Amino acid sequence: MTRIRASCPSCGEVDLRPADLTLTIVRDADGQVADGSAYRFRCPACTHVVAKPADARIADLLRTGGVEAEEFEPANEDADQRPPHPELPPDGPRLTHDDLLDLHLLLATGSWFEQLLTTSR
Ligand SMILES: [Zn+2]
Repeated sequence: MTRIRASCPSCGEVDLRPADLTLTIVRDADGQVADGSAYRFRCPACTHVVAKPADARIADLLRTGGVEAEEFEPANEDADQRPPHPELPPDGPRLTHDDLLDLHLLLATGSWFEQLLTTSR
């Protein structure tokens, strides 16, 4: 079984199994290991999570030792990376002023929640 020796800031050197480490590799446009690449592990002695940057040499060493790598491709700067606007309405009719008034009148009744439960979608 491969053992990987890593360093905890509190405990010093600790021995880990490959499955104890998580390796995240960020690649630049040339496919090289880029800034933001890192590995992390939970120290078996003090249980703190330790995270450290990983350069190409460290990433290769860890992968050779059997650590699974999570790879991230470089972001395409032309693509819109933003999530869809949360207020984009789903399919269906828009909420009108009449709908809002109906809701107001419904909420004024004592049984609005029961009525809401029986309303079909
Ligand atoms: Zn520790």
